[in-house]
Amino acid sequence: EMVSDRRVTPDGVAVNTVLSACSHAGLVEEALRVYSDLVAGRYGAVAPDIQHQTCVVDALGRAGRLDEAEQFIDTISRPSEVTWRTLLGACRIHGDVARAERAVARLRKLAPRDAPTRVLMANVYAAAGQWEERDLERKNMDQAGVRKRPGKSWLVVDGTRHVFTVEDKRHPRIEEIRAELAVLGQRMKAAGFVPNTSVVLRSMADEEAKECHLCHHSERLAITFGLMSTPPGTTIRVFKNLRVCPDCHEATKFIARLTGR
Ligand code: ZN
Repeated sequence: EMVSDRRVTPDGVAVNTVLSACSHAGLVEEALRVYSDLVAGRYGAVAPDIQHQTCVVDALGRAGRLDEAEQFIDTISRPSEVTWRTLLGACRIHGDVARAERAVARLRKLAPRDAPTRVLMANVYAAAGQWEERDLERKNMDQAGVRKRPGKSWLVVDGTRHVFTVEDKRHPRIEEIRAELAVLGQRMKAAGFVPNTSVVLRSMADEEAKECHLCHHSERLAITFGLMSTPPGTTIRVFKNLRVCPDCHEATKFIARLTGR
């Protein structure tokens, strides 16, 4: 509409937003079309930049078109760290270990001591069930002195900030929270929620233990505490220092629907 409406002109951010929306909605063909329009100069003075290109990599990668995503990167004159990390993230989702290793090799040249890269690679191994490789990656991280920031989620209730970590043991009401979360877990299951156990980053033998572990990611503890300690219908606003794992992302949608929060 911005292109056909002569009163406004899209800028680089507008195009980036459209590409990102396409990527998240799984509209790969639309993303590719927008990008080729961009290259063809259909958006006025906006020239393709690395952020647009990374969005295309993301769209292809999320959709599992990893060959095309990697080939696309080869056409970019200067892929950034974020570009490679985007491919690496897609490799984790789709369990492509060999391609992830290639992406990591490129990333190491750009950012040798990058903690997120190593954590992501360890996660790729974990998701593929390659625990020995995962442990080795973790060991290398320790030896290189690369620290992973611990994941935390927090919310403010009645003016007090409540902070949660994975498998939290410090919160004074943690037992109650865990019990409440277990009940919620049953309701979610009944509503059709299927835990994505491939994202669990520990080698656990049985599926039940994996599910149990997943249930105690910090954001779920924070959300459950929010449900317990605020009146029905109140908006629960949880903050987080890292990205939400795919399973908690999906679980949050279920919880929101089930509780009307
Ligand atoms: Zn999670």
